Amino acid sequence: ALEDLCKTHARVAYVADGVYSTGGMAPVPELLALQDKYGLFLFFDEAHGLSTLGRHGRGLVLETMGGINERTLIVTSLNKGFGASGGAIFLGPRHHAERRKLATRFGGPVTWSQRINTAGLGAIIQSAAIHRSEELPRLQQRLQDNIRLFDQHVASDNSGEPLPIRFVSIGSEENTIFYAKSLLEDGFYTSPIFFPVIAKGRAGLRIMIRANMSTQEIERFAACLNQLRAAHE
Ligand SMILES: *Cc1c(COP(=O)(O)O)cnc(C)c1O
Repeated sequence: ALEDLCKTHARVAYVADGVYSTGGMAPVPELLALQDKYGLFLFFDEAHGLSTLGRHGRGLVLETMGGINERTLIVTSLNKGFGASGGAIFLGPRHHAERRKLATRFGGPVTWSQRINTAGLGAIIQSAAIHRSEELPRLQQRLQDNIRLFDQHVASDNSGEPLPIRFVSIGSEENTIFYAKSLLEDGFYTSPIFFPVIAKGRAGLRIMIRANMSTQEIERFAACLNQLRAAHE
């Protein structure tokens, strides 16, 4: 459908999460192929891809692209995997001067917002230093190990993907809320999601895996969830 639009319209922009917030990821190589062929403009939100994936934590999209280009814009939150606050825009090479001028002129806290406070800036600088160091690949590896361990114990819609978010389909909203409540009583926070975040009748649990979870925690979580599933499906 997108290719048809590219064929019939001079300017087409596609807006997507790189790593989807409810499981899965954008088909980045296919989108880049459309960009090559038709000049498709791409706007990616990498809130969930930053830090968790790619060299220096540059995310799924930039890792796939290699370098940013003039027909792609990437924005991200620094509040998630990055572990600080605020947001960032990937501006690309210095010769994209017009883009830089626009971003600094209109993208800052102008009238209603506030700049990031000094402590917040300190956290960003320190997190950036970790991203440049050998510590980041170690943390990314630990995350991947935990994701793999999770997949060994829990069947989800996203098994096998290198992404930190798993979606466990349940179906009804009522059951989904019941599952989330029971897991909370067991000491685990999961996020129950349903319409309008996702399609009607497709409710389920969104599960966020972290690098600092222990094997025991993941195994205990899996046991709790699997017990619920066995009792209710
Ligand atoms: C959390 C999130 C944001 C917003 O990030 P904040 O920095 O918390 O405002 C944007 N996009 C996606 C996909 C997110 O998950």
